[in-house]
Amino acid sequence: MPDIPATLKTYQAHIDGKWVDAASGKTFQTINPYTGEPWALIPECDKEDVDRAVRAAARAFESGPWPGMTQTARGRLLRRIAALIEKHAQHLAEIEVRDNGKLISEMHAQTKYLPEWFNYYGGLADKIQGAVVPVDRPDHFTYILKEPVGVCGFIIPWNSPLMLAGWKLAPALAAGCTVVIKPSEFTSASLLEFMRLVIQEAEVPPGVINVVTGYGAVAGEPLVTHPLVSKVAFTGGTLTGARVNELAAKTFKKVSLELGGKSPNIVFDDCVLDDAVSGAISGIFAATGQTCIAGSRLLLQETIHDKFVEKLVAMAKTARLGDPSLPTTQVGPVTTPPQYRKILGYIDIAKGEGAKCVLGGGPAPAAEGGGTYFVKPTIFTGVENRMRIAQEEVFGPVLSVIKFKDEEDAVRIANDIAYGLGAGVWTQSVRRAHTMARRIKAGTVWVNTYRAVSFLMPFGGYKASGLGRENGMEAIEGYLQTKSVWINNGPGGGNPFIMKTAS
Ligand code: NDP
Repeated sequence: MPDIPATLKTYQAHIDGKWVDAASGKTFQTINPYTGEPWALIPECDKEDVDRAVRAAARAFESGPWPGMTQTARGRLLRRIAALIEKHAQHLAEIEVRDNGKLISEMHAQTKYLPEWFNYYGGLADKIQGAVVPVDRPDHFTYILKEPVGVCGFIIPWNSPLMLAGWKLAPALAAGCTVVIKPSEFTSASLLEFMRLVIQEAEVPPGVINVVTGYGAVAGEPLVTHPLVSKVAFTGGTLTGARVNELAAKTFKKVSLELGGKSPNIVFDDCVLDDAVSGAISGIFAATGQTCIAGSRLLLQETIHDKFVEKLVAMAKTARLGDPSLPTTQVGPVTTPPQYRKILGYIDIAKGEGAKCVLGGGPAPAAEGGGTYFVKPTIFTGVENRMRIAQEEVFGPVLSVIKFKDEEDAVRIANDIAYGLGAGVWTQSVRRAHTMARRIKAGTVWVNTYRAVSFLMPFGGYKASGLGRENGMEAIEGYLQTKSVWINNGPGGGNPFIMKTAS
């Protein structure tokens, strides 16, 4: 480990309402991806810390103020959290940028929008209700209860830590669950700041939300396998997601997974060309391509291919790379060194496969004052859908352009992939918009827009892009159990040797 500069900020984990060091006393450095310099020390938690956090969450779930709180009061608490996020949105965004290198304009938009999740699920908290069922037995009164699943373990990636944690936290709290969060080792700081500025100030009871920091295998796995955890919500890579799913299955936990994507952005020749060019650019180069919904496969109808590529390259060329904390910067650094190496590796793979690099194609010179993890916005044409550059998630500013003939061909190419997270369609035909929306196997289809999300709209993947849905009414179900209650108001209990089926 390099020498620790004296100015490093020191963070602690948050367990049972207290700030604590890792039991081992170990820490690791977190790096500012723009400068390449360490800026804070993070506790390196392990199994022992995870166990403490899960036990605290289990206690808070069973006793104390949390289970005694009415659903209406929980709703009020969520709205208080929303107001505090709003108050600290700028600071939280700055911390995100320092830790993950994404643009301040995007991070601030995220932290300003995040309160809506807590307002929405705060409103929903006291609308979670069971039902009375007119069961087919005389003298029986039967009803359905909706109960919180219990302790939830959240595993969060580095690309949008606060937003992706908030998507899980708001419905979980509304349902009455308690939570242990393990952020990515690369970006722990924003969640710890969130605990200090928002959760403590909102007076969320101790143990209801805990944050343990550390490495995936060391702190993440014990959370997934802990017998007191009832639900795991994971966002990250597909391979890690498969392992998490496998581990969680051993103790029959509920699991939701938001995984990778290789989303097709499909442009028909009847589109508004300039809109589609902007949509293609923002689909892949916003967030330096480090987003699960990146429109990384650009499917162009052959009749407009050359004209479109010309406009695309001309616009992409103007991208301003640089300091992500400046509002004028359009493309920031790659967040982690392994991700940087992975992106450059895929650029070599694409060249080796015979794709034609028409823009970028390698590391970008470090911006002034910046470190070295910049990749030039890169566009490959002549990509065949069977190539690795078309099939595998790069998670960087690398666009693969694939030609198609007609609607049928576009659907075939779009669906010929292991993933199914998002898709874009650019057309002015109403018929085509609805037909494509139905035929594409993806959790979200955007028509004449791209990368739009809302607390109101379910989000999640088909196929290898995940299980379950976040956001909207559907998300709350993932944090609830259903219990059937039978009350016999009649005489006796019936024949003890015969199951009481309908007569
Ligand atoms: P990972 O899937 O490796 O990490 C996501 C989270 O899982 C992190 O908190 C990580 O911790 C944790 N983790 C890692 N291994 C385990 C494990 N065995 N058990 C439990 N938790 C674990 O993603 P990366 O951050 O490394 O990114 C790799 C790829 O994932 C990207 O290239 C991209 O394809 C995809 N990705 C997808 C995202 C999405 O939104 N769908 C978001 C981010 C990445 P730690 O960071 O400490 O390893």
